[in-house]
Amino acid sequence: MKVWLIALGILVAVPATAQVRVVTTFTDLADIVKQIGGNRVQVSALARPQDDFHLVTPRPSMALELSRAKLFVRVGMDLDLWADDLLASARNANILRGSSGYVDCSVRVKKLEVPTGRVDPSMGDIHVYGNPHYLFDPANAKLASREILEGLKRVDPAHSAEYESRYEAFVRQVDEHLKRWQATLAPYRGKPVVVYHKSLPYFLQRFGLQELATVEPKPGIPPSPGYLREVIARIKSAGCHVILVEHFRPRRFADAIARETGAKVVVLPAAVGVEGITDYFSMIDAMVNRVASALAGR
Ligand SMILES: [Zn+2]
Repeated sequence: MKVWLIALGILVAVPATAQVRVVTTFTDLADIVKQIGGNRVQVSALARPQDDFHLVTPRPSMALELSRAKLFVRVGMDLDLWADDLLASARNANILRGSSGYVDCSVRVKKLEVPTGRVDPSMGDIHVYGNPHYLFDPANAKLASREILEGLKRVDPAHSAEYESRYEAFVRQVDEHLKRWQATLAPYRGKPVVVYHKSLPYFLQRFGLQELATVEPKPGIPPSPGYLREVIARIKSAGCHVILVEHFRPRRFADAIARETGAKVVVLPAAVGVEGITDYFSMIDAMVNRVASALAGR
């Protein structure tokens, strides 16, 4: 029955007017929505693949897209706080927080780095609800897809069975890929890496790698020369030779550290839509393969 439903979803063209309009904050979420919604949904992302996750500049076209959406899907925590003003100006009651068309994918995620005690500006002004970069752990993509499934069923209950089937297929695919990704990185268990921004704690935890240091002293704050000297000293004493930088970051600090230490700067394509990354799976695939190659010294 389920196989039949998937086949039907592929074969039968759904007129654009009958499709559920979905707007996500990021391109990786848009891909997951497509995988769960198939041709029942028409999905677009507000941020461009080359944007800094935290610093997306709102454009008038974004509010227009939101005004027409039946479902809004976000990473949540404070990664896409920039979308809140857009949501307010879109004046679409169906997708406001608490409405049936509002999906926060972080709800089921076990959050890392949640601050204890008082949060003040000296800690950096982002990651105040914990680390929001959870989608880099494929196990969390399953939790996010569950929220998306529930959202699609709320706004389009007539096609719940189709969405359920595709959700189950997505989860199976994640599990299959995850086995392979874990095998690829298994030889490097416990190895230290330097990361530019604190964007990889979920990824590193999943694959058993260690964050030795970050190029930014706090999330969103650029390093001082004194701080860079500390990072360089730590890299030299730990024998770490890999600096991971997401595709949209400036290279100069990481390059300066690399020159002093001989470590290699590895650029990670961390969004669907950059460098031939067509979907969530190819994004994690590229990240895993690049990290593995760098740790192998290739
Ligand atoms: Zn961040």
